Amino acid sequence: MNRLIVVSNRLPFALDSTGEDLWTVTPAAGGLVSAVEPVLRERGGVWIGWPGSAGEIPKRALADATRDTGYKVVAVALSETERDEFYYGYSNGVIWPLFHDLQNFCNFEPAYWEAYKEVNEHYADAIARCSQPDDFIWVHDYHLMYVAQALRERGLRAALTFFLHIPFPPYDIFAKLPQPQRLLRALLQFDLLGFQTRRDVRNFLGCVRRVMSDARVVPRRELQLVRFEKREIRLGHFPIGIDFDSFERGAMSDAVARRSQELRARFRDCQLILGVDRLDYSKGIPERLRAFRNALERHPELRGRVVLTQVVVPSRVEIPRYHEFKQRIDRLVGDINGRFSTSNWLPVQYHFRSLDRDDLLAHYRGCDIAFVTPLKDGMNLVAKEYCACRIDENGVLILSQFAGAAEQLKTGALLVNPYDVEEMADTILKAFRMSDADRTARMKRMRRGVRDENVFWWVDSFLRAGAKLAARSAGFRGRQGARHAKTPSAQRI
Ligand code: UDP
Repeated sequence: MNRLIVVSNRLPFALDSTGEDLWTVTPAAGGLVSAVEPVLRERGGVWIGWPGSAGEIPKRALADATRDTGYKVVAVALSETERDEFYYGYSNGVIWPLFHDLQNFCNFEPAYWEAYKEVNEHYADAIARCSQPDDFIWVHDYHLMYVAQALRERGLRAALTFFLHIPFPPYDIFAKLPQPQRLLRALLQFDLLGFQTRRDVRNFLGCVRRVMSDARVVPRRELQLVRFEKREIRLGHFPIGIDFDSFERGAMSDAVARRSQELRARFRDCQLILGVDRLDYSKGIPERLRAFRNALERHPELRGRVVLTQVVVPSRVEIPRYHEFKQRIDRLVGDINGRFSTSNWLPVQYHFRSLDRDDLLAHYRGCDIAFVTPLKDGMNLVAKEYCACRIDENGVLILSQFAGAAEQLKTGALLVNPYDVEEMADTILKAFRMSDADRTARMKRMRRGVRDENVFWWVDSFLRAGAKLAARSAGFRGRQGARHAKTPSAQRI
């Protein structure tokens, strides 16, 4: 296959200044990095992104950080204003809340859109500088939806592919955006658009039908087709997975077994309920805490018999809304523990920090119930990681129907509406009372799905879909080329 160019807002590591010309390198975690990095390492290629600190790129630190990667790294620089208006502004103050159906959290400041386009132009410049005609260019996520448009304006005709990691909203919500047409036009400059779920594809096509009068949607069985400005754009759903084997192996390790036993021993007569989330208002943490409080109020048999361990990983704390949101969580935890705790039982164990990997896996392995209730989520990897770590094939997953993961895990999980506090409370009781036989049957089904549709399957399905497009366009060029010389791309693909 052709050379792969991965483009994402952030590079797979962050550079942080610790003094005059002193930098620390922190590897990034998360689905994208763990999925795509091994592919790039193995076959070479380029990763284009921002190293995470505003201002000039520290060239020496970057060279040190990328010496042994096995692929080329191209860093895009952002000024402080660009970081504020592109990253915190349009990306995380408009698109993130709107695409999670939380329109009241949006700040539709006009300057943000201008900054968004401008920064996308920087990324486009970096791509244009380092790409060759037959590269497979794979752009990631909501920060970079304007990149294809900027590249087309630079005359680039190569196939461009894009994957959206977050949900795509329905028309009535999308239409609140001040630039609906400009954004859709920009997205339609890609040749392949990948989404997490069927629902996202449906929503996107619904928006195209309503907003883009000169685009034609042609329903297809596999990849959907849109005809626009004499071009054909393909769309599909490609649910991101996890590295199942690595989580399963980790959960089997002695260190994790020991830590999970210690965890269980601390709460001997209780079932442990686990919540793990980044600090984000889309994760439904207050609703979950209210559901837990409601369960303790209405179902006294749970008192003294369940403990909720809630891990909140600090994130975007520079944004005031996130800070206020944390205070809301702190107050709710205080209220529940103040009202219900006894001399030997504290209902909520609250950690505002990240866990190291063994500790996280020990929590997955040792907790009886995972309580994963985002108001909306592109996928939610925590739900899948929990299943991968349940090597005893036990454990109950309570999952929001609005998490992308629900499409794949609905046959085993207890699905809930995260806005319905009473339903969630009753589902806690149902999970608490569920028999071992039922738990095992459900967990087996979920583990099979998570194992089969893992992260390597995800990369492979996307690259295959992209390669088919490339082959099709190569065929087209090839037929044209019968009259001319054969293009190098047609020979190589
Ligand atoms: N995670 C982590 N450290 C922690 C807790 C969680 O690195 O202390 C990871 C977790 O393993 C998962 C990711 O954070 O891979 C969260 O991904 P998810 O899709 O659930 O939500 P996101 O934060 O990407 O919106």
